[in-house]
Amino acid sequence: MANKNAQRDISLATKAIHGSKLYAYQGPVSFPIFQTSTFRFENSEGPMKFAKGDPSVYVYTRYHNPTVHDVEEKLALMEGAEAAALFSSGMAAISTALLAVTRAGEEIVSTPALYGGTYRFFRDELPKLDIHTKYINPDRPETLDNAVTERTSVLYLESPTNPTLDVVDIAELVKRTRAMEKWLGKKITVMIDNTFATILNQNPFRLGVDVIVESATKYLGGHSDVMAGAVLGSKEMISRVKTSAKYYGGCADPFAAYLLHRSLKTFQLRVERQNENAMALARALEKHKRVRRVIYPGLSSHPKHKLAKKQMTGFGGMVTFEVKPSKGLAPLEAATAVCDHLHVAVNASSLGGVETLVSIPVYTSHVFMSDEELAQHGVAKGMIRVSVGVEGIEDLIADFSQALSII
Ligand SMILES: *Cc1c(COP(=O)(O)O)cnc(C)c1O
Repeated sequence: MANKNAQRDISLATKAIHGSKLYAYQGPVSFPIFQTSTFRFENSEGPMKFAKGDPSVYVYTRYHNPTVHDVEEKLALMEGAEAAALFSSGMAAISTALLAVTRAGEEIVSTPALYGGTYRFFRDELPKLDIHTKYINPDRPETLDNAVTERTSVLYLESPTNPTLDVVDIAELVKRTRAMEKWLGKKITVMIDNTFATILNQNPFRLGVDVIVESATKYLGGHSDVMAGAVLGSKEMISRVKTSAKYYGGCADPFAAYLLHRSLKTFQLRVERQNENAMALARALEKHKRVRRVIYPGLSSHPKHKLAKKQMTGFGGMVTFEVKPSKGLAPLEAATAVCDHLHVAVNASSLGGVETLVSIPVYTSHVFMSDEELAQHGVAKGMIRVSVGVEGIEDLIADFSQALSII
């Protein structure tokens, strides 16, 4: 059937609801869960077709599964990528994508303020494979020129960063990497973890990035009930990533894929509300006398507010603040007391769900780090990271206000 709308630019909200089933299609409104590990062949031509690369033949769920495939198509459409690969977690997506494009002896260039799991993967796991990471200061982008060498396979970025919500100038670092590629005569894969911003608030492909990795456990899942991860990029890149995924085995489970599929239908509604609530909460916290500092890219007090306005289309649902205790409490004691007195916001790690969560970075994402490492990451002991949910904003502001009043 002729595709009448093919020329129109379909909005993100519509793609998130209908995925690739936007046009006339006979079938269920809600895509079924193919809860099976393996697939029947009509006859022995099936495996032969598969061996010859026919993508329509399903064989085994670690390789591919219709429910998983449908979510991959939807994510690729939403994020404007040629293809996507779904994983069992964000870390499975990140580790598999990196291992797919990096071999022993090669190097990753990155910025130090990374998600804790990624940072430890770079620090403790990759060196076992003789893959080492060099960190540059993103505020001095010119340092990239010296860090990148003929050994560099990947520039790995994260923005806004966890938990300090620093904003990295993505376009500038991409530009310098492309110049180095020409100079060295080799391709460097620019990869970004877009978990915090999501595609609604930041489109890294428009800034020249090659590959997006993200934890779908967070905003894409959005209900704190599913673990998943995604890699998005060119067909060629995703095919490499999927080949590695077959052997590392971090494939998505069909039921998790179904939950994600369902969650994506409300993706835009949720994240828009989280953006609004985060801005309102950040403004309220900024006025509170027991708060030393609020970090939110949408506030004009944020040191990179201008850059955030330039490279982001929304400022996200994450707010970090530092407490200012009055009663001689140490900052960590005060932050702990505030978290323990919240009634609406939940004391739990993770982020991106409809419920507001708080966590203390030195107990969670940045636990077991030396004072020197904490300083390098810009993490203070009195910091509280808030993943703002979609509750009534009056309830959230009142909740933080009463909890802060006890310090
Ligand atoms: C949570 C998170 C990850 C890891 O994702 P999992 O789904 O927990 O494996 C990676 N990057 C960022 C920024 C995250 O917040």
